[in-house]
Amino acid sequence: MIPVTYPLPSDGYGVRLTMPFSEQTYLNLPPKFFQRQEAHPVSSPEMRIWNHALADEWGLEEELFLFSGNTFPDTLAPLAQAYAGHQFGQFTMLGDGRAVLLGEAENTVGGKVDVQLKGSGRTRYSRGGDGRAALEPMLREYLISEAMHALGIPTTRSLCVVSTGEKVVREEMLPGAILTRIAASHLRVGTFEFAAQFAEEGALESLLRYAITRHDPECTHVADFYQGVIERQASLVAKWMAVGFVHGVMNTDNVAISGETIDYGPCAFMDRYDPETVFSSIDQQGRYAYANQPQITHWNLAVLASALLPLFDEEEGRAEELARECLDRYPQIFRAAWQKEMNAKIGLSTLQEGDDRLVADLLDLMHKYQADYTNTFRDLDPQSVPSGFEDWQLQWQKRLVGETDGVGEMKKHNPAVIPRNHQVEAALHAAGEGDMTKFNQLLDQLKDPYNRERNFGELSDPPPADAPAYRTFCGT
Ligand code: AMP
Ligand code: MG
Repeated sequence: MIPVTYPLPSDGYGVRLTMPFSEQTYLNLPPKFFQRQEAHPVSSPEMRIWNHALADEWGLEEELFLFSGNTFPDTLAPLAQAYAGHQFGQFTMLGDGRAVLLGEAENTVGGKVDVQLKGSGRTRYSRGGDGRAALEPMLREYLISEAMHALGIPTTRSLCVVSTGEKVVREEMLPGAILTRIAASHLRVGTFEFAAQFAEEGALESLLRYAITRHDPECTHVADFYQGVIERQASLVAKWMAVGFVHGVMNTDNVAISGETIDYGPCAFMDRYDPETVFSSIDQQGRYAYANQPQITHWNLAVLASALLPLFDEEEGRAEELARECLDRYPQIFRAAWQKEMNAKIGLSTLQEGDDRLVADLLDLMHKYQADYTNTFRDLDPQSVPSGFEDWQLQWQKRLVGETDGVGEMKKHNPAVIPRNHQVEAALHAAGEGDMTKFNQLLDQLKDPYNRERNFGELSDPPPADAPAYRTFCGT
């Protein structure tokens, strides 16, 4: 094999490595929770996209050699996190197989985030994988996570994508890349499952204390913490439902304790309204279909309760009782969050009895007429509705009486543009060929989704009626 030398800062590139995220509190957890990680340099790193606004927020500088994983300065203590998870219902041992947590950044108002590389090479938890990622899926995560943020949905963010100049082997040879992800934390339901199942005495308590310090400093008991997670998840999934987002792989290792959307693998937005919408090629049973997301979240929260159980009470029966009290509140909490989101979409700022029927009837009509989800809400007007919706319109008009600014409310809650799968694919394809024009144009529009003054042109058009069903893939 021909030895390859990798460009490092000492090669005269003049890169400063003064990182404002040298803190790494994860090191305070028992050692089983992580593995310290060396850099795996790549041959020709190139910055493909850098998120200036996000970087400014966290005081981060464009350091190619760091965000390519080519060099980890001594001031950092990068690590891969261990976790477990239920994948499509089956318990599995996992961990960061292709990610490295660089450290934590702080902003000027006391906020703190994890800075993590994704696609940065093999780790102890890689199993059979190569630890790498391909360029198009990393750009896709960048685009969709930034779109979610602009839609007002809690999410991990994307700081940059660096192409590696190396190929990754998938079904074909693809250009490789590394995404830098910013997250409130990378604690998952699966991290608690790992702690409960495999770590040593006291590890679960340590993890709980860590999570409480990080996310819920006011909590004094595990029940308060668990209740907080339930509320954040209910609110998150209600927001997904409201914009027609299908996460696609709601395994418990992809459920963040912070309540942020995490893992943009097979996700996609629904075009025509169909509650059974599934995009992921491997989700044959439709486990993670659009309409199943609230129930799957309930299931995932039950898994978290099982992991946390010993901390609820020493006596098992009592512990179960306390955990169940919290878990049983989820359906109602979700329902209320969902109704609030959906009411806002039809211009209602209050909740009244019968609103659930009003929304359900509208969705039934959209299903019946195969209406485009986003554009139907975008174009809803109390004075003119699509043909076939007239009876519903009468009910709606009655309900709108007393609303001071129904139309204004609707404009704030119904985006004019979402990441349309066919547009995203076209932008990614061009970016893969080296032309970022369409990607940047799409990103720019997706950052401004509620601006009705803007002409979004073809980017807000649904796909052609005869377009084949859209499919997404894992293992990217
Ligand atoms: P995901 O489906 O992206 O949530 O990934 C599930 C697990 O597989 C996680 O533990 C990942 O770290 C790991 N994984 C995914 N892709 C790779 C890869 N190319 N190499 C190593 N591990 C991977
Ligand atoms: Mg994942």
